[in-house]
Order: sequence, then structure tokens, then C-alpha cells
Amino acid sequence: MNLLDALQQILGASHVLTGADAEPYLTDWRRRYTGRAVAVVRPGDTEQVAQVVRLCLQHGAPVVPLGGNTGLVAGGTPDDSGRAVVVSLARLNRIRQVDTDNDTLTVEAGCILQAVQDAARQAGRLFPLSLAAEGSCTIGGNLATNAGGTQVLRYGNTRELALGLEVVTAEGEIWHGLRGLRKDNTGYDLRDLFIGSEGTLGIITAATLKLYPLPVARCTALLALPSVPAAVEVLSRARAGFGASLTGFELMSAACMELVTRIYPQQRLPFAGAVEQHPWYALLELSDSESEAHARERFEAVLGAAMEDGLISDAAVAENLAQSHAMWHLRESIPLAQAEEGKNIKHDVSIPISRIADFVAETDALLQQHFPGVRNITFGHLGDGNLHYNVQGPIGEADPEVLARQDAIYLLVHDQVHAYQGSISAEHGIGQMRRNELPRYKSAVELKLMRRIKQALDPHGIMNPGKTLPDE
Ligand code: FAD
Ligand code: ZN
Repeated sequence: MNLLDALQQILGASHVLTGADAEPYLTDWRRRYTGRAVAVVRPGDTEQVAQVVRLCLQHGAPVVPLGGNTGLVAGGTPDDSGRAVVVSLARLNRIRQVDTDNDTLTVEAGCILQAVQDAARQAGRLFPLSLAAEGSCTIGGNLATNAGGTQVLRYGNTRELALGLEVVTAEGEIWHGLRGLRKDNTGYDLRDLFIGSEGTLGIITAATLKLYPLPVARCTALLALPSVPAAVEVLSRARAGFGASLTGFELMSAACMELVTRIYPQQRLPFAGAVEQHPWYALLELSDSESEAHARERFEAVLGAAMEDGLISDAAVAENLAQSHAMWHLRESIPLAQAEEGKNIKHDVSIPISRIADFVAETDALLQQHFPGVRNITFGHLGDGNLHYNVQGPIGEADPEVLARQDAIYLLVHDQVHAYQGSISAEHGIGQMRRNELPRYKSAVELKLMRRIKQALDPHGIMNPGKTLPDE
């Protein structure tokens, strides 16, 4: 029996998509890559996922796991050989268990992140992972990419939020590793190998996640700042003043705010005058476990002093939930506004926070020197040392011209990142987009060890080939 027929037999024809039905799954979110596949399959439980993998193994067909398809490095898009089977986890979307005494939640990989957050809230707890794609990305995709987002400075990346996993291995076996343990030193940490491996080592089918207390009050402020060094100093004071209550510190360049308010005119900054009168903006969030009044008091003490010292040019503190949402909406609209504006060149870099200001000043100047007129749509999670150092062409420039400079700009920016002891992928992963940049920035020893792990866990090389590791 051929592979397609065998897949239909296991899953039923309605869960084996081909032709036009499969198409939406075969192009990445940024519309940079389109692949082909034998089929896109939608197994309904872990056992079916294992059966599909075993079948693919028999037929030597590559397996490409797919969650919400919001990844930014085309890790879930097959190549154009047409040999792969794309395994969508969308139907594995059950909340399996809530354990409030253990503060854990066990969910299947295809659960949309927002549904996981809602399930936690219904149990009176917080699941803190939060990012702009939360309405469509899946927890499986978050784990596979070790996603970051806007709460990392307080709660860590997805890796820090996972206690256990259930995984279908590259040989079609099931590893039942759904442990809700905060301590477990019984050998090599397989869980942490699968997290962040972008579907190249196995398919995550479920996870046991950590829950936290819901904050009693949240305070949000939008700050206008004179410079990046001022932003770094405000961050440092906020850390010292708020401790673990500081749950967000997002930096945004004036060009980001110009873009968002032009593309979405209904969105406005809460300051008088033109967006460009301040070169930088920051969104700051404090989550308090006592009361609204306590939160505001702490907020005003730290921000008031920073204003007196000239570190903050203007500040707007949200008076209510609607205003807080509007501030977050400005931040979260940046990637969407960029997509509306046209093709752009994205970088997802991390740098030690102490060196970020120099990195930005020097790299901005180099870019203008080599590519005059480009716009720096720089924003990101300053509290984690992670910037989306994105570059857009001059206003009105056509896509082909933007893309013609892409490789030269990647090289310039990533060489700078390397010189500053940073990372060329802080939270989006490597996928197929970045993999051939790795040999320039990672040592031969590190790459050799990565290849050996791949060989050990995926001996037949069927799991998401052509992703994460560079060509040999
Ligand atoms: P997909 O795109 O479907 O897959 C991503 C990768 O994981 C692929 O390699 C795929 O093969 C693999 N994969 C998916 N599911 C599984 C599974 N169950 N088992 C094994 N492998 C699997 N990321 C951040 O870190 N922080 C952000 O702030 C952030 N903001 C974003 C904002 C927007 C508007 C968008 C579009 C993306 C953003 N991202 C961000 C990118 C981020 O990686 C994804 O949103 C999310 O983590 C991916 O989840 P997904 O379900 O869409 O995965
Ligand atoms: Zn981000």
C-alpha cells in the first residue's frame, strides 16, 4: 500500500489533506517559503501520531511537525521535494489535568496558547507565557521553539515553564515523561533536549506546565525616553525598585511607533506632539501581589525619581484596563504593521544588557553608512537583552529592492552581534532560515555535538530534515 493510502486508513480520509486543502499549511507565516508534501495529516491522539511516524519511517518519508504555523523561521514548512508528511497537532487540543496543589497544568501540544492561559485563569492561576501570536500559536510550537515573549524577565522562557513532556520519538515510540516534578536529577535531561529542538528530534504531544499565582494588580506605563542608555538605566532602577514584581520592559524605537500609528490610525500615543519628538519609548509593567494602591505607590516612586533625573522625558500611566490594553496593543502591533508595510529584514538578537546601547548606536551607524535611508524598526524585550533589530527599506521602497540587500544586512548585523558576544537567535529559533549562518557563529565543537544528538535521537534522519542544523 502506498503511503497516502496507509495514512488514510489510519486517520480516515477527512484528516489527510492534499491539494488545495493542504496549501495553507505549506507556506510559512512570513510568506517566504512554500513547500510541498505527500499530505498534511491531522492525527487525533498521541497513539495516532506514533502510528503516523512509524509509517513515515517505513516509507522513508520526512516528518514535519506543525502547530499554529506562526513560527518566524519557517521551521514548520517542508522542502519542495514533495516527499514529506506534515503532521498538524491541531486536534490534540485537550486540557488533560489541572492540579492546583502542585501548581501544574497538563495540556496537549495542539492547545492554542490563549486556551492554556484561560484554563489556568479558570483554576485561579497564571500561566505566564505571553506573546503577540498567542491567539493562534500552540503550546507544542512554543515548546519546540522555546518561545520567549513579554514576561520572560520575570518567569523565564517556555523551557522554564515546562516540567514534563510526552513525546513521540523519531522511531515512533512514545516517551511518557509528563512528570510534574520540580526536582528530578535522574540522568540526562531529555525534556530539555526536546524543548527548543524545532521538531528535529521528535514530536511533542503533551506537556505538564508550571502555574503561578495570579497577580492582584497590574500597573502599565508608556515612557518616552531620550536614549537607549537612559532606557537601560530605567530598567536597572525598575529591577532594583520592583524586584520580582517587574514583569515587562519592552523597548520600541520612534520608527516603530511612527509605523504603527500610520498603518493603524486609530491607535495613538498618549503624548502630545509628533511621535518622532522622542527617539525611544518603553512599555513597563509591574504585577503586584498586594493591591492596586501598593502597585501605584511603588510605580510612582521609581518613575518619579527617574523623571527628575532626566532619564524619562514623558510618562503615561494607564488609569484602567482599557488604557493598559491600548498600550500593549501599540507594542504588539509592530510585527503586524511591519508585515503590512512590506518585506523587511528581521533579526532576533540577544546581547548582554550592559552592551546593548553601544551595539545599537554602532550598528545603526554602520547600516546608514552602507545602506543609506533604511529604517530601524528596533523593538523588543530589553529586560531580557533581546531586541528585534528589524530593518525596513526607506518608505515606499518595493519588496525586490528590500530583499536584494537582505543577505548583506544579515551579515553586517550578525557580525556585530557576534562581536558583542550575542546570539543571532534569541527566541525565534533557527528553522530553515538561519541554519546556514550557524557555522560562522558557532564553534565546530558545538556543531559536532549538536549533530551527534540529532544522530542519536533520530537515527534515520526523518524528523524535520533541513532544519536547525547547517548543511554538512
Ligand atoms: P509552528 O510555527 O507551527 O512551528 C514552529 C516550529 O516548531 C517548527 O519547527 C515546527 O516543526 C515545530 N513544532 C511545532 N509543533 C511541534 C510539536 N508539537 N512537536 C515538535 N515540534 C513542533 N516568538 C517568541 O519567542 N516571542 C515572541 O514574542 C513572538 N512573537 C510573535 C509575534 C507574531 C505576530 C508572530 C507571528 C510570531 C511570534 N513569535 C514569537 C514566533 C513564535 O515562535 C511562535 O509564535 C510560536 O512559538 C510558534 O508556535 P506555533 O504553534 O505557531 O509553531
Ligand atoms: Zn519577541
